[in-house]
Amino acid sequence: QAAQALKAIARNEHIKSYLQQSEELYPLILQAAKRFITGESKQEGLVAAKEMLGKGYAISLEYIGENTKGEKECREAKEEFLQLIEEMGTASIHQTVSLDLSHIGLLIDTEIAYDYLIELAEKAKSYNITIMVSMEESSKTDDILNIYKKAARHYPNIGITVQAHLYRSLEDIHELMDYPGRIRIVKGAYQEPCDIAMPRSKELNDRYLQLVEQVVKANHPLSIATHDEPLIRQIEQRHYLAYPQVEIEMLYGIRPDLLKHAKDNGYTSRIYLTYGQEWYLYLCHRLAEYPENLYLALADMIQP
Ligand code: FAD
Repeated sequence: QAAQALKAIARNEHIKSYLQQSEELYPLILQAAKRFITGESKQEGLVAAKEMLGKGYAISLEYIGENTKGEKECREAKEEFLQLIEEMGTASIHQTVSLDLSHIGLLIDTEIAYDYLIELAEKAKSYNITIMVSMEESSKTDDILNIYKKAARHYPNIGITVQAHLYRSLEDIHELMDYPGRIRIVKGAYQEPCDIAMPRSKELNDRYLQLVEQVVKANHPLSIATHDEPLIRQIEQRHYLAYPQVEIEMLYGIRPDLLKHAKDNGYTSRIYLTYGQEWYLYLCHRLAEYPENLYLALADMIQP
């Protein structure tokens, strides 16, 4: 219930614009968000990326945004991603850029999202950078997968995220292994109807393991993206992290101890960094999936 309330608050435009205009609240909430985001600017994202690379992590970097409705805003987001790729490339950060297709046009026209994705992948290719496509609400799954499949034939440097909680993912993952791109398996961050998705449960963890096993056994590039310690322990016991094409990936600010442990054991360990002014929705996602974070957020807000 707390999670649902937080998601409703996150999507309420009145609350969002009130907070953005409030000179008192905005900096306080930004302070709380900084537990999970690197900052509002690309520069802050790049500084954090270099710091993490220096510590031996791989990185993904996302310019935060989703559900962009205006054509101009989608074009601007695409331009920001192009600049990000350019700056990463010239700084020899041959890593991963993550994005939501709804940030670059999916809601307006799938052709726009496809064209922009190709433009980004082309630029990324010249710098040996990977573009990782996030997975969004189930209403967008078909469009996202279709765009990915069309693009991935020509650009092996594009990867795709699969949500273990969707029942359909068991079939999707077989098809996706026909394409060269890395597959990132997550549990799923969106509230979905129970006839198409599982809630957090042993059943979901078993499904997660099943998907991981299929991709590992096919020798396909894989990112295991979870902070679930018992689940990671099961994955470790099966030695899946020791495969060279497999990596573990976690969100910045969430269970850094677990990711450090994986890195210290010699496993490729990727940290998912974000920056941008649209951090509010990202913060709400992180609070909603783990409402205990609300206490941390409040403590961050009142601490000097
Ligand atoms: P859970 O069962 O949710 O949590 C397990 C444990 O992890 C918790 O008990 C807690 O200890 C810790 N934990 C989990 N979340 C938090 C948190 N917010 N704060 C503090 N502790 C926490 N979802 C999508 O739907 N689409 C995507 O494209 C997508 N991309 C992702 C990329 C990466 C690299 C990662 C790591 C996650 C991504 N997610 C995405 C989010 C994902 O679906 C889950 O919502 C999120 O990872 C939490 O699930 P979990 O696997 O950690 O397991």
